[in-house]
Amino acid sequence: MTAAQLDIKSLIMDVPDFPKKGIVFKDITPLLAHPEAFKRTIDMMAEPFIGKGIKIVAGIESRGFLLATPIAYRLGAGVVPIRKKGKLPRKTHSASYALEYGQDSIEAHADAFAPGTKVLLVDDVLATGGTAKAACELIEKIGGTVSGIAFLIELGFLNGRSKLPGHTVQSLVTY
Ligand code: AMP
Repeated sequence: MTAAQLDIKSLIMDVPDFPKKGIVFKDITPLLAHPEAFKRTIDMMAEPFIGKGIKIVAGIESRGFLLATPIAYRLGAGVVPIRKKGKLPRKTHSASYALEYGQDSIEAHADAFAPGTKVLLVDDVLATGGTAKAACELIEKIGGTVSGIAFLIELGFLNGRSKLPGHTVQSLVTY
């Protein structure tokens, strides 16, 4: 781990038992609020994808939006929101993922980008991988190619990567 990554970890707070007992929530708000660390985070998350022909960065609601938007700007790409169901006003595609009990779904506009578009998927945390897997399915339903997946944080002990075979998965810091 580089010094820059250590520095970033010092700005990610562990919040035990949030939003429910047994979960250690990774709070990235101190990192987002730190001008130099935020800039470095965005630059480092974007760097592996510079020059890869990415035209769209898709962010997962809602902390994913805060990272996807500046990464898109850095890459000279557009940004597409992947939202919880019922939030987008026009025709959508959706994909489901399992929750601890039952399932939920995420949506994107059916015409969010042209078929064949190279898309970078961005979220704050890779935990079990269910959300990112559903987001990849959604991008593919719209006709896009998932050219990479960038996370700020990977919870390696949950092995979410195994749900994303065949994809280029980058995470800045791992626990
Ligand atoms: P998963 O589908 O299990 O990979 O969960 C990923 C989604 O849940 C991401 O959108 C995260 O924002 C959120 N998430 C899961 N676990 C955590 C955690 N420990 N701290 C913060 N966010 C989390």
